[in-house]
Amino acid sequence: MFFLEVVFWATLGLILGSFANVLILRYGMQTLGGRSACPACTRQLRWFELIPVISYLALRGKCMTCHVRISLQYPLVELLMALFTLAIGLSPAPLAVKGIGVLIALLLIAIAVYDLYTTYMPDAWVLGFIGAAIITSIFTLGWGVFSVWFILAGPLVALPLYALWFFSDGRWMGFGDVKFALGIGWLLGIPLGYVALCFAFVIGAIVGVCILLPLQRLKALFSSGITRYAAVGEGFTMKSEVPFGPFLIIGVCICWISLLYSIPLIAILADFLSLNFSS
Ligand SMILES: [Zn+2]
Repeated sequence: MFFLEVVFWATLGLILGSFANVLILRYGMQTLGGRSACPACTRQLRWFELIPVISYLALRGKCMTCHVRISLQYPLVELLMALFTLAIGLSPAPLAVKGIGVLIALLLIAIAVYDLYTTYMPDAWVLGFIGAAIITSIFTLGWGVFSVWFILAGPLVALPLYALWFFSDGRWMGFGDVKFALGIGWLLGIPLGYVALCFAFVIGAIVGVCILLPLQRLKALFSSGITRYAAVGEGFTMKSEVPFGPFLIIGVCICWISLLYSIPLIAILADFLSLNFSS
């Protein structure tokens, strides 16, 4: 029985992962329908080239006719979605929460990848996330969703990001991140929503300082003459160089999975921090 559940949720995740790839690729286009084609040679793909992960491995990551490399994005998104769906499906949450939860996972992965490419979060997907977050809370909180604290959770979690956006004229933070944070508040509540923000800032800072900042410096050193100083002077800004969405979404995933499994994340973090500071 457990084995069947694993197969069911993993397969569902793989299928939704390949749907997420289609969403990301075709966002802003007229239609989601029609057969998928190779972006390099535009040949329509046959059914056996569209099996999540397996097709990528069987084709060794290349198109059958033009041999152009297929982006690693496709199998990675499918695998991530499968793991995420599996984590939601095997959790002790009610079935309704799992159903909407899978939709939330789909939106989170699509938003994260799209933001990574474009530093832009599609409004329709962010709105879908906010709506789905509120609906799952109706199932977990019942009448509790009408409490003042729940209603305020969205705006209160969005407030720090709004302040960063407002005082930097949108240079440190995009407005898409502010809107997205409303959904974080309504999905996780307070204080867990703030914990997700902390994770996002800490992970974002580590990745920014260890990977992206050295890359910028290196690029500046390699460009010559006046352009070199111009490149150094421009420096490193969060908005132009690093999309914040993927970090927010990593934070949300950690906190939300801990919520679904009733893991006392805040107590664990408090223990960890007090141990570090007192010893
Ligand atoms: Zn091709």
